[in-house]
Amino acid sequence: MATVSREKTEIKKQGRPNNLLPRCYICNEVPGMGIRDGFLLAGQFICIFCEEKILNLSYNDPAYHVMVEKLRKAISKKKHGY
Ligand SMILES: [Zn+2]
Repeated sequence: MATVSREKTEIKKQGRPNNLLPRCYICNEVPGMGIRDGFLLAGQFICIFCEEKILNLSYNDPAYHVMVEKLRKAISKKKHGY
């Protein structure tokens, strides 16, 4: 009797999807789309929501300076090799 050849249509689940879900450096949230929902700044992940927030804040807004300070820390972290 001939053995039925195994179908190779079965797709193996690759690793953990969580690997692609970075945490935002600013708001500490994990966006639903993972890395697609943001960008890396000096090795730190910034989600699109925070990016939008930063872009919409005016210079006079105290929140703007909080954001800038956080970004500055992220960048200086990178400079020190961490
Ligand atoms: Zn964020």
